[in-house]
Amino acid sequence: MLRTLRNVSGRALRIPKLVRNQHTVVVGIDLGTTNSAVAVVENEEAKILENEDGSRTTPSVVAYTKDQGILVGAPAKRQAVVNPQNTFFATKRLLGRKYADEEVQRDLNNTPYSVVPHDNGDAWLQTVDGKTLPPSQISGFILQKMKSVAEQQLGQKLKHAVVTVPAYFNDSQRQATKNAGKIVGLDVVRVINEPTAAALAYGIDKKQSDGVVAVFDLGGGTFDISILDIEDGVFEVRATNGNTHLGGEDLDVILLHKILDHFKEQSGGIDLRRDRLAVQRVREAAERAKIELSTVKTTEINIPFISGDKHIKMTLTEDQLDEMAAGLIAKTIDPVKKCIRDAELKVRDIDEVLLVGGMTRMPKIRTTVEELFQRKPSTAVNPDEAVALGAAIQGAVISGQIKNVVLLDVTPLSLGIETYGGIFSPLIPRNSAVPVNKEQIFSTAVDGQTGVEIRVYQGERSLVRDNKMIGNFKLSGIPIALKGVPQIAVSFAIDADGIINVSATDKTPGDPNSPSDAAAANTVSIQVSAETGLTEEEVQQMVSDSAANSQRDAETRKKVEHATRADILCSDTENALFRFGEEMEDSEVEQISSMVAKLRVKINDVREGIRDHPVQEINDEVNAIQKVCLEAIQKVAIKQQKEQEKK
Ligand code: AMP
Repeated sequence: MLRTLRNVSGRALRIPKLVRNQHTVVVGIDLGTTNSAVAVVENEEAKILENEDGSRTTPSVVAYTKDQGILVGAPAKRQAVVNPQNTFFATKRLLGRKYADEEVQRDLNNTPYSVVPHDNGDAWLQTVDGKTLPPSQISGFILQKMKSVAEQQLGQKLKHAVVTVPAYFNDSQRQATKNAGKIVGLDVVRVINEPTAAALAYGIDKKQSDGVVAVFDLGGGTFDISILDIEDGVFEVRATNGNTHLGGEDLDVILLHKILDHFKEQSGGIDLRRDRLAVQRVREAAERAKIELSTVKTTEINIPFISGDKHIKMTLTEDQLDEMAAGLIAKTIDPVKKCIRDAELKVRDIDEVLLVGGMTRMPKIRTTVEELFQRKPSTAVNPDEAVALGAAIQGAVISGQIKNVVLLDVTPLSLGIETYGGIFSPLIPRNSAVPVNKEQIFSTAVDGQTGVEIRVYQGERSLVRDNKMIGNFKLSGIPIALKGVPQIAVSFAIDADGIINVSATDKTPGDPNSPSDAAAANTVSIQVSAETGLTEEEVQQMVSDSAANSQRDAETRKKVEHATRADILCSDTENALFRFGEEMEDSEVEQISSMVAKLRVKINDVREGIRDHPVQEINDEVNAIQKVCLEAIQKVAIKQQKEQEKK
């Protein structure tokens, strides 16, 4: 949320100031999958800084070369065809991901460079001479390049930057982006969401822009949709959705295979797929053709001498490209609808639609957006530049150069912990404004429990088994007490970068007379580690599963809750057997024990999702146990009373 201070009704606003020094410059960097851009605010106006070629964007490409060392940007892109295995592009798609992730595996066949599993399972890159490096290092080189572009233009050394990420990046992808800065000594003072940055650029630029704005951002590798409220200078992100593995690169790959198939057919069976150099040439031609078809109806793909004396010659029409893009375009529709729903709006409530990302230049994307929102998208922002401009504005807010704005974004997925019975207890619902802190008191589930494991999950489903665990830790040293007595405060903090911290504190009131009990509370905390992020597929799956399964989830949750209550009764019954069993008939003890054991199997089935048992069946067994146990205890009580009377 970006807010003019005078409009904040009595609420204290913290504007994070980096320094009060007038001269500190915080640049904004759009670290794109395909291209990157850097911008700065001067005289209250954001402007793009051109690179040494006079270009306003720089290809996000890094090459390891024999003669020239490491090349970044256009020089790296230019030599890709002759050095395909050492030229790294679109590596943002690998950032914060595991090698085994489905998306990584899918991309492996289409990248001329090698992707290898690192010791911790992360997807890393490998040069021809065997050197391995994390994708964040490539991002680091690009950040360094953008920093030097800015330094040259501004004539001063820079240390700080605001870097943008797709709104749907998860915790580990955000951390990997911050680390990329660290690797090259650039202090990434804030990570902000790309669509939010674009809206910021639009809002600041068009001073009279009040209303609800949707930002449709389809770039080389990611898709984001965000809906913001802009009112009297106040920017509030209402909802966000997207897919961190969907973009122009996917269409390039589809077209690449079409061209390779066409050549195979024309050449009588020559398959170029194993020829990395040829594949790289075709890939570049595919992207060029795609871009051309945004302005013309038909284009020629000509690649001479692709194999010996053979050439590729092929005509491609806009309609053919649209057909190839149909699947990709279809994948943007659901997130848009969900985002509108999450923002609690109707399509007609949206006053303006901004297009961001190179792929939104494709006419078919524009008409799809127009159909979805029932209005022509705005052309007020430059899709290639808006994100960097917005990042620069946020940088100027942080440095104190721009005074009257604050930006608050939202978290894309719900966050919570596992509670007894495998229930997911969300503390922070998705689309909550960040930074955000939430605390909730939990207790122990078993008598005498001295430790609890806090398992942190992200997702939208009712049971943890359907969500993604992103971290766990133990709080031990809880003083022995009956179940339900200890008070364990679990707090979640998501900072402005979207990075998560969780802590648990034993807040059980102690004996005030005991100096040890009165001592400081026992606290354990974690920053959710960068290695355990969600795969995009999982994020997408979670959100869509959640909608599709919400009714079934509610039923399952009810069943699990019933099972948990039944389990508590089983424990109480076992306690009763422990206390009174000696005085009960052996047959009674046996009967009760076997009833409890039978019920426990069913409880376990329900909780673990092994087998279904109707709630009524479990309730009947609970009632039967209670009845038999009560009768047995009553008999014991009568027996004890008689013995008392005898005495
Ligand atoms: P970005 O990540 O925003 O830089 O977007 C880059 C993606 O947009 C790449 O896949 C480009 O091929 C694609 N792109 C750039 N310009 C155009 C255009 N005029 N028509 C279609 N796609 C484009």
